[in-house]
Amino acid sequence: MYIVMLGAPGSGKGTIGKILSTDLNLVHVSTGDIFREQINKNTNLGKKIQKYLEEGALVPDDVVIETVKARLLEEDVENGAILDGFPRTVAQAEALRDFLKENKPGAKRVAIELDVPDDEIIKRVVNRLICTNKSCGAIYNKETKPPKKENICDVCGSSLKRRDDDNKETVTKRLGIYHQNSKDLIDFYRKNNALYSIYPQDLDIAVKNIKEFLEEYKRK
Ligand code: ADP
Ligand code: ZN
Repeated sequence: MYIVMLGAPGSGKGTIGKILSTDLNLVHVSTGDIFREQINKNTNLGKKIQKYLEEGALVPDDVVIETVKARLLEEDVENGAILDGFPRTVAQAEALRDFLKENKPGAKRVAIELDVPDDEIIKRVVNRLICTNKSCGAIYNKETKPPKKENICDVCGSSLKRRDDDNKETVTKRLGIYHQNSKDLIDFYRKNNALYSIYPQDLDIAVKNIKEFLEEYKRK
């Protein structure tokens, strides 16, 4: 099964995507994480995309699509994947649909939309703290979900850090870009796949509801 997580920056795609990935045994593919890793390693791809991430602009479709296709052809993607942060445009969604039809015929495809009001998004993102240990990646919030010890990850003990692009200016821009594309994207999934929308106020309840939806969908 291929699960697309739709939602604004800070809507909980990463947090919920990681939980679903563990519970359903599907790899978690986050384009944002892949890009940040490439930037940290200073690869050719990293150099090419750094300015887009700094500005909160979208990386060009062709670059994103190539990156995701290559990732989905890796061996660990046997059972499917949770796609977090991709697709973000209809062109990306079409490319994904064509790729899956060709390379993973018969795989189920479904989209989950996390629908969170903008004012809440801004609060979440500017207070977001992320574990610096990449294999952990736990996400905290200074106000709503602080770590037990300041700046230390509850899960693995590594230090926490704010993402470079999690400032108010960039978030507002990312949010604007999200709203420009989201209507068409959501329409695309409503027409082409199963789409489940939820306002994830309580994380545990949201995860439970999403899993119930997925169970039912699998049986169809
Ligand atoms: P968020 O959802 O919190 O904005 P992500 O980690 O998903 O953060 O993405 C961070 C940045 O990476 C985006 O602002 C954008 O520059 C780039 N990016 C990630 N995924 C895509 C995509 N599918 N298309 C274009 N750019 C992307
Ligand atoms: Zn950690």
